[in-house]
Amino acid sequence: MSATRVLVLNSGSSSLKYQLLDMRDASRLAAGLVERIGEQTSHLQHTCVGTGATREQHGPIADHDTALKTVGQELARDGLGLDSPELAAIGHRVVHGGMFFTEPTVIDDAVLTEIERLIPVAPLHNPANLTGIRTAVALRPDLPQVAVFDTAFHTTMPESAARYAIETKVADRFRVRRYGFHGTSHAYVSRATAELLGRAPQDVNVIVLHLGNGASASAVRGGRCVDTSMGLTPLEGLVMGTRSGDLDPAVIFHLRRVAGMSMDEIDNLLNKKSGLFGLCGDNDMREIRRRMDEGDDAARLAFEIYVHRLKKYIGAYYAVLGTVDAVVFTAGVGENAAFVREAAVAGLEGLGLAVDGERNAVRSGEARLISPEGARVAVAVVPTDEEMEIARQTYALVGNSG
Ligand code: ADP
Repeated sequence: MSATRVLVLNSGSSSLKYQLLDMRDASRLAAGLVERIGEQTSHLQHTCVGTGATREQHGPIADHDTALKTVGQELARDGLGLDSPELAAIGHRVVHGGMFFTEPTVIDDAVLTEIERLIPVAPLHNPANLTGIRTAVALRPDLPQVAVFDTAFHTTMPESAARYAIETKVADRFRVRRYGFHGTSHAYVSRATAELLGRAPQDVNVIVLHLGNGASASAVRGGRCVDTSMGLTPLEGLVMGTRSGDLDPAVIFHLRRVAGMSMDEIDNLLNKKSGLFGLCGDNDMREIRRRMDEGDDAARLAFEIYVHRLKKYIGAYYAVLGTVDAVVFTAGVGENAAFVREAAVAGLEGLGLAVDGERNAVRSGEARLISPEGARVAVAVVPTDEEMEIARQTYALVGNSG
């Protein structure tokens, strides 16, 4: 029997998320998460999709190596062990691929070196991703392992969108440019939107709004990204759960010079204590909705700032694309918060954009249209599936060679 399974690993500094998929029919076999690796209170949660069984483990898991071996044991209990000949490859999520990695890439020593070289532009993420890769390679050195980069989908952006208007010499020397993130999600969702419309990806222009705790928008022309809202780091663009998104860069000088804050304090402020959380003390859209319903002014203002920014990006990307076939919402907020979708599109009838109240109110895990029948531009909700996309790209690259 040929090998058709792909293990997808998303390795954080103290966490390891995984899914095992079977690419014969794009089905999920198992999924889970190890949290608080390196602490006394580590926690593993594992679900076998076939049997519906969920198991948990509490207690110290010292490092990623132990975490992956423990995951392997859990998978083996379901008959899905990592030594199975049916395992074709391991696909790794890697946050930053810089300009170098434009495609999913089979991992070898040179690839590891290059991912390491990108640490200065992704100090929070790439080291953790590398740890996950090294651990998995040590466990199954014989198996093809593939890096799938969050930035890769955005490498098709033209220079006019990717460059900041700063001195070229400085920008080039320090690799200061707009890379964009959430690319795996934007790739998956833009393609799934074309499918929903019954058209080929190369024939449609789509604005993707990935609204999770982190949030980003992208303009996708004929299947290729031409602009996205995150930049050198995931801080630029939309108002997010705890990140400010766009601001005048001089705010940073002001906080340094006038408020006397250190660079680390400002970094922390803009990444962790801003956005919805900074504005009203909550970053969960459900809580903000509840507070708005109770007449809370801070929650209302936070919501209005969030929606205002979102609307500006819809307008900007409409202009970038010229003609738009669909605007699509995805991720935690985009998939679940009908009131955000309604507010984001309100007043944009002149652009051919509208939401049908009844369709928008439907709760569903399926890709669906929420614009009125016969609308000029489709408005849609498409649940994202980054793991499936990583598995698909991994499998497409290594096929049955594993
Ligand atoms: P990330 O992967 O960036 O952590 P998700 O895509 O899982 O985030 O989105 C998480 C966010 O989704 C939560 O912070 C919350 O604001 C929002 N969310 C989840 N469920 C709902 C819901 N039913 N209604 C409104 N917002 C929701």
